[in-house]
Amino acid sequence: MLIDTHSHIYAEEFDLDRDETISRAKAAGVEHIVLPNIDSSSIERLSSLAKSDAEYFSVANGLHPTSVGAGYKAELEYIYSDATFAMLPNVVAIGEIGMDLYWDDTYQDEQKYVLDFQLSYAQEKGFPVIIHCRNAFSQIMDVMSAGDRNGLTGVFHCFSEDYEAAKRVVDMGFYIGVGGVLTYKKSLLPDVVSRIPLSAVLLETDSPYLAPVPHRGKRNESSFLTSVAEKLSLVLARDCSEICEITTMNAKKLFGLLR
Ligand SMILES: [Zn+2]
Repeated sequence: MLIDTHSHIYAEEFDLDRDETISRAKAAGVEHIVLPNIDSSSIERLSSLAKSDAEYFSVANGLHPTSVGAGYKAELEYIYSDATFAMLPNVVAIGEIGMDLYWDDTYQDEQKYVLDFQLSYAQEKGFPVIIHCRNAFSQIMDVMSAGDRNGLTGVFHCFSEDYEAAKRVVDMGFYIGVGGVLTYKKSLLPDVVSRIPLSAVLLETDSPYLAPVPHRGKRNESSFLTSVAEKLSLVLARDCSEICEITTMNAKKLFGLLR
């Protein structure tokens, strides 16, 4: 069994065949899916999918760094309102949050402020965080180390940094999110995962993005997570069943799914 710890299957890319996509995920052995939010415009879609099967889906609520712009204060107010939390079943994490300086660094200071706000919220409420990091590892680490983050944990999703960075993440007690990128040529991830403990690895798709080989370039979906597990099994020379079992346990531990 597998857990897809990061999927945007509530996105419009799945409007025509969402039920079939979920059936394929279940048939492929994906027992649970975590749905991270983007911003105020995605809450309703996220909420209605999560409510449609409260056993199968968990939710992360948060403001994505690429949605941080001039209106970030209103976004934070909406996302962290009681009314928004009341709309969302099974909130298990704050996410996705972080910094993204790849597309646009205009709002770098605002991204830092928003990340700090959300880390503090998660810490106060006892939620793990789902971190999105693109071209911003040192900036994120600056924000993380600026405050007292005692007890805070989470995952750096879709990890794309090198081993040294991964070691810092794991030493903080955070997990490394591994998805389709593991299967790409030139990826640093095979080196990274072979040098960190498997107990620090979570599997994810980030669907509809970043489909693994042999589906690369197509819309990604949770059933493709088996390709990631198989590749990890090859890289680590361990049984695929063992990979699935351990990474599933890791996800259950982080997100409190052992209920
Ligand atoms: Zn995402």
